[in-house]
Amino acid sequence: MRLVTFTAGGRTGVGSRRDGAVYDTGYADLHDLIRDGAAGLERAAAAADAGAPVDATTLLAPLRPGKILCSGVNYASHADENPDAVMPTEPFFFSKLPSAVIGPGQPIRIPRETTLTDYEVELAMVIGTRAYRVAEEEALEHVFGWTILHDVSARDVQFKDGQITLGKNPDTFAPLGPEVVTRDELGDPSTLRVSTMLNGTVMQDASTSEMLFSPARLLAFLTDLITLEPGDVVTTGSPAGVGCFRDPPVYLRPGDTVTVSVDRIGELTNPVEAGW
Ligand code: MG
Repeated sequence: MRLVTFTAGGRTGVGSRRDGAVYDTGYADLHDLIRDGAAGLERAAAAADAGAPVDATTLLAPLRPGKILCSGVNYASHADENPDAVMPTEPFFFSKLPSAVIGPGQPIRIPRETTLTDYEVELAMVIGTRAYRVAEEEALEHVFGWTILHDVSARDVQFKDGQITLGKNPDTFAPLGPEVVTRDELGDPSTLRVSTMLNGTVMQDASTSEMLFSPARLLAFLTDLITLEPGDVVTTGSPAGVGCFRDPPVYLRPGDTVTVSVDRIGELTNPVEAGW
């Protein structure tokens, strides 16, 4: 099943998307559907079966996550582009803030003219059930579904004095969506292509099989320390091709259009605007 959050006629709702059409599930917030478990999914399936799509919809971010934990340096190809990269022996995480989340089509706003704004495509998990100290073998049972998180960075801020929280969290720097694809619908997450197109040019293109730590391993590692709750989002890192390690570097500029995509999930496109 593929779930979206839409607005139509001034109302916000959760939709079940089938063959491009959006069917109103009756939920106003994806968190509520997730908490309802199997009953929530049944209601969403029934909405699509009933066959009365919502028209003139605009898609929003599928949810505002409770917390967002992002894996860094999780593709081996990172070593090819960054000579200083040290391959980690265990997962590395930082957080993005819910206030940075925007939906498909909404502008990424560069806060200052001097900001070195960079793209990173990431496969992201939406947590379905509370997870604490979960075994790697059972970790994915806590995943409700999969989506795309665009981990936009202000490299000048991030790399100055190691300000990763500030560098990763200017408003609008976490486009999310467009759909959450349920775990059963997506299937095996280890063979997906992830890519970024900047103004039509491919900048990142890799397979999730190149991850250093699998999604299950990431969850087992994280939940040793932190309880994950329904509606939290955990990302899985980004492959080589980001702008800051290119020669010459490439940064997002006002007027750009950037699309991040993941097989079997879709494409998330956002324009870039000046915020100064
Ligand atoms: Mg990242």
